[in-house]
Amino acid sequence: MKQVALTGIRQMQLTRANEPTLKSGDDVKIRLSSIGVCGSDIHYYSEGKIGTQVVKYPFVVGHECSGVVEATGENVKNIKPGDLVVIDPAVHCGTCDQCLAGRPHTCRNNKFLGCPGQIEGCLGEYIVMPSFTCFPVTGKMNPVQAALIEPFSIGVYAVKLAQVADENSSAVIFGAGPIGLSILLKLLADGISNVGMIEPLEYRLKKSKEIGARYFINPEKQDVEKEVQNQEELLVDVAFEASGEQDAVDNALKILKPGGKLVLVGIPPSAQYTFNMDLMRRKELTVVNVRRQNHCVEEAIDLVVSGKADVEKMVTHHFSLDETPTAFDIVEGYKDGVVKAMIDL
Ligand SMILES: [Zn+2]
Ligand SMILES: [Zn+2]
Repeated sequence: MKQVALTGIRQMQLTRANEPTLKSGDDVKIRLSSIGVCGSDIHYYSEGKIGTQVVKYPFVVGHECSGVVEATGENVKNIKPGDLVVIDPAVHCGTCDQCLAGRPHTCRNNKFLGCPGQIEGCLGEYIVMPSFTCFPVTGKMNPVQAALIEPFSIGVYAVKLAQVADENSSAVIFGAGPIGLSILLKLLADGISNVGMIEPLEYRLKKSKEIGARYFINPEKQDVEKEVQNQEELLVDVAFEASGEQDAVDNALKILKPGGKLVLVGIPPSAQYTFNMDLMRRKELTVVNVRRQNHCVEEAIDLVVSGKADVEKMVTHHFSLDETPTAFDIVEGYKDGVVKAMIDL
């Protein structure tokens, strides 16, 4: 089968590999339909690592995908050949303390699709995954929507963890990339429409306007604190950080009202943030950390199927598998107005 492997920093090769085979009665072989290019894939592409996760070449990345079931092991009951499936890239063990406590996303033995040293990614024609990671959506959505469920479910989970009080609550999002926009889509689906977007790239601000943010701030041209205050005299209830920038954290502490919540979703380039503790303490702010998603795939699917969240609005580019190197180059360089790029097979 065709496969695209990272072979060095900013180096990719279209190669031939053996098709993966079922290794247990619970496995499912999937022919991939659509694959999203994620910011984390780009880190592996341009830096060869994320934190302590280092790529050993050659390695196949990619974890946001949908596909059609080709074969199933003898124990698989929930899906059958021919089904279009959403694939949850996280494979948990099911037996550790975290799994038993209902926290499979922080499983001690978690293996993630396209994560170095864990599971080879999905940038190829076929993958094999355990059946519990597959959610059938035949006839309910198209393959692109199905591949977008992974990033969208992170937005769904972030909003869930934020426990936004009600529809009158106010929120801001730092970063209008696919995760920031996923948070926006979920807030709007919940009826929370008083949402400001803070983002330095004008074309991404425009995208958030198209999706339904109420006001827009460019932190490179405007004073974030002043602009938010113009919109919300008493400041905002929840700030979602989806950019990984220290500046965003600094601004978030300034624009949150007393008792407000800062929800950290973005991955900072270094492992550290600093917080103005004087502000944090005086306002008694809560900080919420988000690790991928937990039990939100089904809800994300429901929101897309019901039409409450039009995830395809995030997509700006489509490429073939052969064009993957071009797709990565464009996403890495924020070129050509790219927000979400999809590889369609
Ligand atoms: Zn991703
Ligand atoms: Zn576990």
